[in-house]
Amino acid sequence: MEDISRMIAGFRRFHNVYFHGDKELFDELIGGQRPKTLVIGCCDSRVDPAMITDSAPGELFVVRNVANLVPPYEPDMAHHGISSALEYAVCDLQVQHVIVLGHSQCGGIGYLMNHEGVGDREFIGHWVGMMAAAKTEVLQRLPGKSAEVQQRACEQAAILLSLDNLLTFPWLRRRAEQGTLSLHGWYFDLGCGELLSYDPHSGVFKSLVTADAS
Ligand SMILES: [Zn+2]
Repeated sequence: MEDISRMIAGFRRFHNVYFHGDKELFDELIGGQRPKTLVIGCCDSRVDPAMITDSAPGELFVVRNVANLVPPYEPDMAHHGISSALEYAVCDLQVQHVIVLGHSQCGGIGYLMNHEGVGDREFIGHWVGMMAAAKTEVLQRLPGKSAEVQQRACEQAAILLSLDNLLTFPWLRRRAEQGTLSLHGWYFDLGCGELLSYDPHSGVFKSLVTADAS
């Protein structure tokens, strides 16, 4: 119960400092949210999109899943949580940016790299197996490299595959082609605290800003 008590104490601080401290913002948010950005992040407890980007309530529309994956457009009767969030953000909230935020030391991508097929889990293997093509591409491109190097490459390759999958959603693709929606592939390096962004011109992830820069 110690962890829960700490969270309740944390909520008290949030209530005093933010809720009462910025009453104007919260009064405005009662009227509705108008975030400009959708972030697809990982469930990982170390990679909170709002915390990493120092964003305020109302600024980011966030959906998180194991390994920050975007599935392809599959309009069937299955339960599509990620696709629902995409649809709401793009068609209703009319966000202007979609960021796929990956990260180093990702347990989900680690599972993909370290198991043949779906492995021994009921759900995770099938979920991350969506990125099997990224794994195959990395193993062909970097044979003989260390497991760490291959995993990092796969974490980044999976971001690119998710960006491709985003464009399979017709209403999202339409807005991207119209120029009213920008797609971004970001990668947070836990080891050095660096945030990288995929540069389609050079085909590599480049630093947006280093941890010690102002
Ligand atoms: Zn992760």
